[in-house]
Amino acid sequence: METKYIPEPFRIKMVETIKILSREERIKKIKDANYNLFNLRAEDVYIDLLTDSGTNAMSSKQWAGVMEGDEAYAGAKSYFKLLEAGKDIFGYEFIQPVHQGRAAEKVLFPLLMGPGKIAISNMFFDTTRAHVEIAGARAVDCVVPEAKDPSKRAPFKGNMDTERLEKLIEEHGPENIALIVMTITNNSAGGQPVSMANLKKVYEIGKKYGITVNIDAARFAENAYFIKKREEAYADKSIKEIVSEIFSYADSFTMSAKKDAIVNMGGLIGIKDDAELYQKVKGNTISFEGFVTYGGLSGRDLESLSIGLYEGIDEDYLNYRIGQMEYFAAKLDSAGIAYQAPVGGHGLFIDAAALLPHIDYREFPGQALAIQLYIEAGIRTCDIGSYMLGNDPDTGKQLKSDFEFTRFAIPRRVYTQSHIDIMVDSLIKIKEMANEVPGYKIIWEPPILRHFQAYLEPIE
Ligand SMILES: *Cc1c(COP(=O)(O)O)cnc(C)c1O
Repeated sequence: METKYIPEPFRIKMVETIKILSREERIKKIKDANYNLFNLRAEDVYIDLLTDSGTNAMSSKQWAGVMEGDEAYAGAKSYFKLLEAGKDIFGYEFIQPVHQGRAAEKVLFPLLMGPGKIAISNMFFDTTRAHVEIAGARAVDCVVPEAKDPSKRAPFKGNMDTERLEKLIEEHGPENIALIVMTITNNSAGGQPVSMANLKKVYEIGKKYGITVNIDAARFAENAYFIKKREEAYADKSIKEIVSEIFSYADSFTMSAKKDAIVNMGGLIGIKDDAELYQKVKGNTISFEGFVTYGGLSGRDLESLSIGLYEGIDEDYLNYRIGQMEYFAAKLDSAGIAYQAPVGGHGLFIDAAALLPHIDYREFPGQALAIQLYIEAGIRTCDIGSYMLGNDPDTGKQLKSDFEFTRFAIPRRVYTQSHIDIMVDSLIKIKEMANEVPGYKIIWEPPILRHFQAYLEPIE
C-alpha cells in the first residue's frame, strides 16, 4: 500500500540554508535548554516542526505584493483589495483585518458574551478558550467521541457531537449559551476535519435555539479539501464553492491567517450581515489593533494576505499539501508507528504513549519523544499531552491527558520529500531503541502555561 509523494506544484526560487549540528552538539544544546524545546535557538534546529503557524513560505506573487503594499494610515489600496478577496471567498458583507487570530478573538468575543454565559465548541483552541474566559464566559468542548481514539479511523473526527450539543443547550438553557464555535479543521483533535453535514446541522441547531455560530477558520481551506475528498456530494465541486457553502453555515468567523492564508502574520474577522455588530467590531479594532483599514498590520501584510487567501484554496496546492501528509502517514503505517489516524491537515500527531510504553504519563512520553527526535535528528516537534496539560489548579497534582502526542506540525511549502523521509527514519530509529529513551521530570515550572518555560531533567 505505497502512497506516492505528490510532486510540489512549484519550483524553488530562493533558499534558506539550514545546518545540522553533530549529535554531541545537540545533546549539549538540549541540556543547556533545560530539555525544553522552546528554549532552543532556531538556528540549532535542522527541521523545525514546532508549528505551522506563520512559518509558511510565501510565493513570488506574495513577495511582489509586499512591494506593492500601500502603507497609508487610512483607506489604503491594499485594504480594499483584501476586502474584495474576503467578500469573494467567504461571501460575508463585512471583513475586518487584525494582526493575528487571537486578536480577532479579543476584538469579537467580548461583544458576544459576558459573565455567566457559556460558549460551546467542537474543540476550543487554547487562545480561543482563553478569550472566552477573559470575556467572563465558560468554554465547553463537545467533540465526537471517536476524536479521542487515535487508532479509530473515521473520515470526520473533528465533528461536533450534535446530540450532546443539544443536551448541553437544554441543560444550561439556550439563553445562557452565548456562542457556538466550529473550529475547522479541529486543531486540538489533531487537525481533524469537520464535515459539511455537521456544519449544516450545527447551524440549524443554532437557528433553532437562537444561538450565534462562529467559525474558528484558521484551516478552512484544508477542511474544504477533506470535504471534497470524503463527502460524496462534494467530489465535483470546486474548493471555492465548498468554502462558500461552509461559511454560509455561520454568522461570523475569526481567523488566524498564519495558517491556510499562507502569510507570516495576519488575521481576519468576518461578519455575515450584522451591521450593528460590525460597527462595534470597528470600535474594538481601533482600540486594540489600530485604525479599521490596517487592523494592526502593515499595508504589505494586507497585500500578501489577499493573495495568500487565493493560493490557499488552489486545488493543486491542496492536493500536494494533504498528499504530503498522506505520504508521511503511509510510511508510518508500514513501520507500525501509531498516530492520530487518519492523518489530519497540518500535522502528524504521533502516539508517543504507544511508542514509549515504558514511560508513565507523569514522566511525559510526548515530551520524551520530542527531545529524542532533536537529539537523533535535529528535528523540533512539541508535546501535546500531559506535559502540556499541566497540574490540577486545586490539588496541584499532574493531570492525565486523553492523549500523549508528539506533534509534527508541517509548515506550508517549506519542506520536501527528503525532509519527510528523514522524519520517518528518525521515528523508526527511536522505535528500535525505545527502551533506552528516558522519561523526564520537571525541576522548575511557572504557575501557568508551563510547557513554554519549564525546566526538565531526564530520569536516570
Ligand atoms: C492558531 C490558531 C488560533 C490563534 O491564532 P494566532 O494567529 O496564533 O493568534 C486560533 N484558533 C485556531 C484553531 C488556531 O489554529
